[in-house]
Amino acid sequence: MKVLDLQCSRQHVFEGWFASEEDFTHQCSTGLLTCPLCNDGTIIKMLSAPRLNLGATRPAEAEKTPTPETPQSTDVVSPSVEHELQAAWLKVARRIMAETDDVGPKFAEEARKIHYGEVPERGIRGQATPEQTRALIEEGVAVLPMVLPEALKEPLQ
Ligand SMILES: [Zn+2]
Repeated sequence: MKVLDLQCSRQHVFEGWFASEEDFTHQCSTGLLTCPLCNDGTIIKMLSAPRLNLGATRPAEAEKTPTPETPQSTDVVSPSVEHELQAAWLKVARRIMAETDDVGPKFAEEARKIHYGEVPERGIRGQATPEQTRALIEEGVAVLPMVLPEALKEPLQ
């Protein structure tokens, strides 16, 4: 079984399951393949995205990548995939830490200042209670609640 990321001409992205690459090509050429959202018959195969590039913050996507060795168990995340995800996540987290200012418990206050233009725009990170985070989101302040790995909480060199 082959899982392909497909896209119609209206940029709807969806997943297609095929017996093989040839099966996909065949269904495509015979017009059997249409977009599930708009029924568009112009379907292209997307290049398989590199796992967790910085634009993609949904680790779940990588789990859908079929592993060639075990084609029957695409639902199971093998230990190596898990390890890779963890490594990729650490990389992303490190980058976030390198590019943001740690404002600690003053996060909500600082985020508001940036949002209302009281201080220059910059990336910040810090601690906020769930209530503070909710209030920020309600005010339209762009925040991304996330948990950084414990290992990275030490100051970086
Ligand atoms: Zn479509």
